[in-house]
Amino acid sequence: MTGLVVVAVGGNALAADPSRDTMSDQLATVQDAALHVVELVESGWQVVLTHGNGPQIGAILRQNELSAETVPAMSLDFCGAATQGTIGYLFETALNNELRRRQLPATAVSVVTQVLVDPADPAFEAPSKPIGTFMEREEAVRAARILGWDVVEDSGRGYRRVVASPQPIAIVQREAVRTLLEQGFLVIAAGGGGIPMSETATGALVGVEAVIDKDHASAQLATDIGADTLLILTNVPQAATGFGGPQEHWLDELTPEDAEAHLAAGEFAEGSMKPKVQAALDFLTRGGRCAIITDLDSAPAALVGTAGTRIVRG
Ligand code: ADP
Ligand code: MG
Repeated sequence: MTGLVVVAVGGNALAADPSRDTMSDQLATVQDAALHVVELVESGWQVVLTHGNGPQIGAILRQNELSAETVPAMSLDFCGAATQGTIGYLFETALNNELRRRQLPATAVSVVTQVLVDPADPAFEAPSKPIGTFMEREEAVRAARILGWDVVEDSGRGYRRVVASPQPIAIVQREAVRTLLEQGFLVIAAGGGGIPMSETATGALVGVEAVIDKDHASAQLATDIGADTLLILTNVPQAATGFGGPQEHWLDELTPEDAEAHLAAGEFAEGSMKPKVQAALDFLTRGGRCAIITDLDSAPAALVGTAGTRIVRG
């Protein structure tokens, strides 16, 4: 069985070694991911690719700090747009080279994607997403006073800026993505969760200083374009209960009810596996056929039902 699949590639699946993340390292990692994605195209899937941008945003924020005296700092919506551009460029290059090598007719194209959020989203009252570098206490206090940052102590490792992570409401460029798909393009969209935008009273869209979770944005995109399958690729082959403990149990096929029960029991960690399972459930609730969590290498097998954690309506 084939169809339209949204493939979400995690920052972790992309950043092989964050300490050695030069541009050529990034290209090499993207090239490896591209091989797996093109395999899906070759087996008949229509593909929309989304990707994370955590390490890349971190690098821009560090540049902001180092050049604060000479260049105005980039706001988070600018950072989102910039990383969609650079990572989208890497994927276009790698995917198109691989598509040509296999003589497949598709062309990959990247869409700078905005995602609508609600300015009344409770997330704005409780910023929770840590971004950028670690700071000493004094530095954090100064950043809070001078730059107006929200800062938190991050599990004994120092202080970090936190920003709001609101829920996506709609993908602004969904029609463009659909049209490109109909014309046979392999579309790269909603990179880094998309650029968060809010609508003013007069109906204008403005960029927001926030970060949308990549898994939730991918589920929103999958819903908005009527995808059959949401394939979330990370650095573990499956989700597990009792993860990392003596009772660890890797999960094959789940109903949404099973997944809800594991979520409620706290089996999936905040900020890593939990948003993936939540995104999978949101997608299924809104009409999706199947949501899968697995790693890059297992992607083709997962789509034919022999790998990954597959959540399917019973
Ligand atoms: P990505 O960049 O792909 O979003 P994350 O780090 O956010 O990656 O999420 C993947 C990580 O989730 C895995 O590396 C694993 O350590 C962690 N994780 C937390 N809970 C679980 C679980 N129950 N089963 C499997 N992995 C889990
Ligand atoms: Mg993640």
